[in-house]
Amino acid sequence: MSTLEIKDLHVSIETEQGKKEILKGVSLTINTGETHAIMGPNGSGKSTLASTIAGHPRYIVDSGSITLDGEDVLEMSVDERARAGLFLAMQYPVEIPGVTMSNFLRTAKTAIDGEAPALRTWTKDVKAAMTQLRIDPDFAQRNVNEGFSGGEKKRHEILQLELFAPKFAVLDETDSGLDVDALKIVSEGVNRAQEGGKMGTLLITHYTRILRYIKPEFVHVFVDGKVAEEGGPELADRLEEEGYDRFLAAGASAA
Ligand code: ADP
Ligand code: MG
Ligand code: MG
Repeated sequence: MSTLEIKDLHVSIETEQGKKEILKGVSLTINTGETHAIMGPNGSGKSTLASTIAGHPRYIVDSGSITLDGEDVLEMSVDERARAGLFLAMQYPVEIPGVTMSNFLRTAKTAIDGEAPALRTWTKDVKAAMTQLRIDPDFAQRNVNEGFSGGEKKRHEILQLELFAPKFAVLDETDSGLDVDALKIVSEGVNRAQEGGKMGTLLITHYTRILRYIKPEFVHVFVDGKVAEEGGPELADRLEEEGYDRFLAAGASAA
């Protein structure tokens, strides 16, 4: 079993008005085999947490720690994080002219594992994963992200997730902009990657919709850069009915 541990994390960014603290002491422990949902209103710091785990240079860690099996993640480069077993969907968001998906996937897999995958099984694995995600076979010969629709980008993310077999996946708003059919296909991919309990998932979302297909054991509600409440799946059900008003009203009266 592996453990990703976030302890009392404080993160800020530089703005034109000076430094602004966004994460105000976040603690969270995820083990492989577990699915955690982070939910919360817009602007509560969910993506900031994802970007900080990913090592985005814009986000300044003022205090606290992130460790993977005791290793300091914050000391690792973005590549080292991937090799350590962290999957961060936003790591490859850009178009890469002249690089086909097929080449990209194999190169990335080689970099993550430290050795090239055996060609025969690899080709078979890629084909199988693409079929399950209903990705057009032509896709392999297209350039990375070039002209991909929103839905294609999400499927590409999940294709990587299935092929790279990470220890921990951080999925930020994987559900946004997907129609119901695509949402189901993408969710099934995440569930397949999770099978066997070898991966832990941090599913970040504003809406409860995706939680009909991916069932979290733990739900953490983010409000104003902090975890405001934690619970099991019943908390997500409650949010579906009540929304975030209860938390926002509490924040407003405290301010
Ligand atoms: P969420 O993902 O929950 O919607 P974010 O992490 O994107 O929240 O944002 C949290 C807060 O930090 C917001 O007030 C947002 O305006 C601010 N913020 C985040 N990233 C940046 C940035 N790069 N530049 C300016 N403000 C930012
Ligand atoms: Mg603190
Ligand atoms: Mg966000």
